[in-house]
Amino acid sequence: MTYENTLAYAQYLDKNDSLRDYRNRFHIPKVNGKDSYYFTGNSLGLQPKTARTYIEEEMKGWETLGVEGHFASSKRPWMEYHKFSKDALARIVGAKPIEVVSMNNLSVNLHLLMVSFFKPTKTRYKIICEAGAFPSDQYMFETQLKFHGLNPDEALIELKPRTGENTLRGEDILSKIAEVGDELALVLIGGVQYYTGQLFDMKAITEAGQKVGAKVGFDLAHAFGNVPLQLHDWNVDFATWCSYKYLNSGPGNVSGIFVHERYANDSSLDRFAGWWGHDEKERFKMKKGFQPMPGADGWQLSNVNVISTASHLAALELFDEVGIEKLRKKSLKLTGYLEFLIKDIGGDSGIFEIITPSDPEQRGCQLSIFFHKDGRRLFDALAAAGVIADWREPNVIRIAPVPLYNRFEDVYQFAHLLKKNL
Ligand SMILES: *Cc1c(COP(=O)(O)O)cnc(C)c1O
Repeated sequence: MTYENTLAYAQYLDKNDSLRDYRNRFHIPKVNGKDSYYFTGNSLGLQPKTARTYIEEEMKGWETLGVEGHFASSKRPWMEYHKFSKDALARIVGAKPIEVVSMNNLSVNLHLLMVSFFKPTKTRYKIICEAGAFPSDQYMFETQLKFHGLNPDEALIELKPRTGENTLRGEDILSKIAEVGDELALVLIGGVQYYTGQLFDMKAITEAGQKVGAKVGFDLAHAFGNVPLQLHDWNVDFATWCSYKYLNSGPGNVSGIFVHERYANDSSLDRFAGWWGHDEKERFKMKKGFQPMPGADGWQLSNVNVISTASHLAALELFDEVGIEKLRKKSLKLTGYLEFLIKDIGGDSGIFEIITPSDPEQRGCQLSIFFHKDGRRLFDALAAAGVIADWREPNVIRIAPVPLYNRFEDVYQFAHLLKKNL
């Protein structure tokens, strides 16, 4: 693909973009009275215009029906609420509906899934994760290991890039898994690394981990809704994600989990249970003895937070209308254009470099730009000019053009403003 560094060219790409009208389905935050250049869909996706309608429908149901809203009289009976997202979730992560459910928040779900899938023994107790994992994931590992009486310094193996490199090499991940071998209980890493934007080969990692007898799970916070996934076919044991980043469900909104179909009726797995995971036919008999629902549903604890899950449904509906395949196609082009422009304006200046892999198959939509100097000054100058981006210590600006609502022109303006302020 050859690109051009002109506004006319960016506008030409927008004009020929079959997804361009989806931007109008979102509220775009303004800066100084003008649409911002919004690049933080990797942190908080924008509000779909339908989100408010969905929420208001439930407010209305509560207002007019009270407790009866749980049953058939409501448009989406609250008792069944977790079921309305299943098919769309399954399509996004490449799963069967029985393998997914929306529930809780991401960090909570990581802990709950650890209860089922991290079962250390005297000889097999080690976990492989990525160095510099998201803090919540780091605290989860540390406290889970301590809970099992293990020393994190010994039991947690953090994969680091080679000296002088920014991202992990696929072959190094696989050889570390083979090396830890019989001692390895679990591999749990991000599908897309939140800081560098690196997309891992989840199929190969799953295969390698399972080959040595370990379980393999993924934190999909930055992969969900960003890149196509095939969790079922890749044979992944379990995964979890959040819905407020690329899915646009709203701040802190509900997470979801994937548990492979082969565990759907496996009663040997430990879990921390609650009434919503109990066999729904028996749920209101309030009897002793936990009988899990088959599949991912059996991991639910609580009844659904309906008001916020309403906007999750609105976001899913919009997402599903387009489909992840079309989004990925545009995303490759949009991020490719961003990469081209950054290289074009940066040249050999040595002021900044992209630390995200240059191979489009090894990244999602985000590019992480490392500044050798002036990073914070440039970030502030861009913000004043209407760019909403993300600053990460010590020196990285993360830019995530998302195909649902970002334009090629947004990407052009970002590069143009960066150059102007160099
Ligand atoms: C965003 C993110 C989280 C956030 O966790 P919450 O429980 O939703 O607050 C956790 N892990 C990763 C990798 C993330 O990117």
